Amino acid sequence: DKVAVKTALLSVSDKTGIVDLARALAEKGVRLLSTGGTHKAIAAAGLDVTDVSDVTGFPEIMDGRVKTLHPKVHGGLLAIRDDAEHQEAMKAHGIDGIDLAVINLYPFEDVRAAGGDYPTTVENIDIGGPAMIRASAKNHAYVAILTDPADYPELLEQLSSDAGQTSYAFRQRLAAKAYARTAAYDAMISNWFAEALSIDTPRHRVIGGVLREEMRYGENPHQTAGFYVTGENRPGVATATLLQGKQLSYNNINDTDGAFELIGEFAPEKTGPACAIIKHANPCGVATGPTLKDAYLRALACDSTSAFGGIIALNQLLDAETAEEIVKLFTEVIIAPEVTEEAKAVIAAKKNLRLLVTGGLPDPRSRGITAKTVAGGLLVQSRDNGMIDDIELKVVTNRQPTAQELLDLKFAYTVAKHVKSNAIVYAKDGQTAGIGAGQMSRIDSARIAALKAEDAAKAMGWAEPMTKGSAVASEAFFPFADGLLSAIAAGATAVVQPGGSMRDQEVIDAANEHNVAMVFTGMRHFRH
Ligand code: 5GP
Repeated sequence: DKVAVKTALLSVSDKTGIVDLARALAEKGVRLLSTGGTHKAIAAAGLDVTDVSDVTGFPEIMDGRVKTLHPKVHGGLLAIRDDAEHQEAMKAHGIDGIDLAVINLYPFEDVRAAGGDYPTTVENIDIGGPAMIRASAKNHAYVAILTDPADYPELLEQLSSDAGQTSYAFRQRLAAKAYARTAAYDAMISNWFAEALSIDTPRHRVIGGVLREEMRYGENPHQTAGFYVTGENRPGVATATLLQGKQLSYNNINDTDGAFELIGEFAPEKTGPACAIIKHANPCGVATGPTLKDAYLRALACDSTSAFGGIIALNQLLDAETAEEIVKLFTEVIIAPEVTEEAKAVIAAKKNLRLLVTGGLPDPRSRGITAKTVAGGLLVQSRDNGMIDDIELKVVTNRQPTAQELLDLKFAYTVAKHVKSNAIVYAKDGQTAGIGAGQMSRIDSARIAALKAEDAAKAMGWAEPMTKGSAVASEAFFPFADGLLSAIAAGATAVVQPGGSMRDQEVIDAANEHNVAMVFTGMRHFRH
């Protein structure tokens, strides 16, 4: 099970720790082989190292596209040491065994993240590296494959404590990690292509990412969790900078994503300042306002009870006066495109409050994919990038919506797209009045939303709930008139829904009877 390391091949783009590792290996009498840049770095430290070209008798060609793709390298990595035929082949072709490979890949992810142009990004697709990693990992019975500088110390420790040998268990673990690395690498490449070519069909891309961090736990403390980044160039929780506060938890990341994807629907040049407050991936208040502070306060008014411990997303530069309002309440995370120095200073007083800046808003129309796991599989679909602004609305009632109703219908429908089904959202004057989320029946969502609006009126000291004279959105059709009647009872005067139910006519009749204006979008926004 133990393999003595006599020869090591080092070929790394990320040269972190490589010279120290090479020195430690050399001290243990390990023969070092290396490629161009890595060779240069190791030789510069005064260490004895052989260039792979001298082993293969073949120079690096085509700007390094071909440097290690040679039988002397791959034979050395793949040979089964105690197989007579393999031994013979090694002798016949002058192939030496390689017992340790230290390889990390061209920084494709970094080049992509930096927005490298097409040819530069393509050039950063590593070919020989993954081939060597996969070969070494396949032959882990004899070869140790290091793909991560974080594993260098453990290797050295093992060599020191075990007479220059690696254990089978260690090599197995390294092999598993190696394939995770090459799989993630190719997933990144496939996703880059999909993005560059605007393709989002499942056949042209795979779900995959690079482990950014391991979290202390998952949705619950007894679950493990990790955050993988796909390299998608999208402002949001994966690309944001954490300016202050503790590491984000699994639930924080999930909720913050929901919050920022929702606020991305509100381009400031169109809607003015907007704020969304999210709890458990559902909004508990969304509003626009003349100022960002107003937008926050109006969003908060919708359900100030639920907002406690929530996530706040803003669609523009966070200023000090808004920050001063936000810090009055316990909040987990704030995410905004930018933040002023004054606002930073205000938030600094709350040590645990996490502040994320993204540098911009995500484009709600952009393509992309979402995925969820099921037992034994993954469900992948294109992102829901449908927007009510792009839809020709069909008025189905005798009464047309007024201009204000139309604005509120669009606002409510946009919010409903980001609420777990069944979703009912009441809105008035660019502000949510009541949100009913995640119920198994649509009528219950309508009732809960109205009930919450009544609670809000009590909390705020208003004479009546904001649902009076509101617009209401349903993210999928009303299967019966009862849900609509419940919304009308709560005071809604205008309705937006996809339509398409067998009983549409019943629902339209009920709307007409109450002089309610109703529009059909023809586009559903299920979110299960
Ligand atoms: P160096 O800086 O040593 O010149 O190059 C190291 C990088 O080259 C590593 O990231 C390694 O994965 C990559 N590499 C090694 N062999 C080959 C090859 O034959 N073709 C390509 N494209 N890359 C290789």
